Amino acid sequence: MAQTILCGLLIDGEHEEPVKGAWLTISDGLIESLSDSKPAGSGDYFDLSRYTVLPGFIDCHDHVCLDPGDEIAQAQEPLAWLAIRGAANVRMIVESGVTTLRNAGEHERIDLSLKKAIDAGMIPGPHLLTAGLWICRTGGAGYWDEKEVDGPWEIRKAIREEVKHGADWIKIMVTGDFTSPNSDATTSDFTREEVFVAVDEAHRLGKKISAHAHGGPGVDYLIEAGVDSIEHGFYLTQSQLHEMAKKGIFLCSTYGIIAAIIAEPTSPDYSREGCIKYIENIPRVLTKAIHENVPIVVGTDGNHGKMAIELEALIKSGYTHSQAIKSLTSQAARFLGLESQTGSIKKGFKADLVIIDGDPLNDIYAIENIKLVMKDGNITFQNILV
Ligand SMILES: [Zn+2]
Repeated sequence: MAQTILCGLLIDGEHEEPVKGAWLTISDGLIESLSDSKPAGSGDYFDLSRYTVLPGFIDCHDHVCLDPGDEIAQAQEPLAWLAIRGAANVRMIVESGVTTLRNAGEHERIDLSLKKAIDAGMIPGPHLLTAGLWICRTGGAGYWDEKEVDGPWEIRKAIREEVKHGADWIKIMVTGDFTSPNSDATTSDFTREEVFVAVDEAHRLGKKISAHAHGGPGVDYLIEAGVDSIEHGFYLTQSQLHEMAKKGIFLCSTYGIIAAIIAEPTSPDYSREGCIKYIENIPRVLTKAIHENVPIVVGTDGNHGKMAIELEALIKSGYTHSQAIKSLTSQAARFLGLESQTGSIKKGFKADLVIIDGDPLNDIYAIENIKLVMKDGNITFQNILV
């Protein structure tokens, strides 16, 4: 069924300037045309002339079965409960305008089943890219949720297992973190040899690999080995950011979860204390990253669907509103290798669209005034009459 949309303001995810009064046509889930005059043809007509149309948002780092709070306790909950929470979260996430999401590791590979359920139309949710189990060293950051490995061959085997189970990406925990007790964010959990082996094995099997890493020598190993992204990076130095920019290594920024953990009453003390230390440092790192032209994308990391706070952190650190929106759309699509499918409003791209009330080029929180969400041309959320 064809659809025709009259847009009030259209922000295409690529260009700086928005377009007023554009017409979009959609056919078979794809954008068929984009023009400044009313196209001929039949089908459903949506008058969205009061609203702003954007590409569907892309969250590059979440764990859909975990919520802010005591992650170790949550991971011990019954598998069925975690799966139900994940199903509820993916629905809420797509209703927040996120039409594509990369899950950065999940208990018992529940993300792979959620992806299957979404793709089969059983439950609403975004297009999911999955990592299966995250990979850490024995007793290292994230040890409480698998997969603990030590030494080159265990690492290669763990990556082969995730690929065998259908993971789209590999996720490895390279430095310490606040989510695990007695862990240091600037200490490397893996040796240089182990980090090189991980990057080599993922790439050899045709998969991208992202690393949970904050700072210190583990980051140096990752950059040298050619990892695809550093996740969080709250202690990255100017020279590390400079090298990342030179190699095109992405930074996936995760600001909002830190504020959420501090505010959440069930967060353990070690976690809250770690986050209080991080939170002041994040804008400093983002400012340096923007200065060095590091490609930046954003992830909610458990603060599901809350994309505006991520963009606000980028804007406060030097991005224009338009650059921040690109991080959420076309830049994120490029990061995920989906740049010819989604992340922009262009002929031939998926009709993944978010319709909001307000102008996010003036007020970034306007992206939370969701009126309608379309994924592959299908309406997944609507709270206006059209
Ligand atoms: Zn994470």
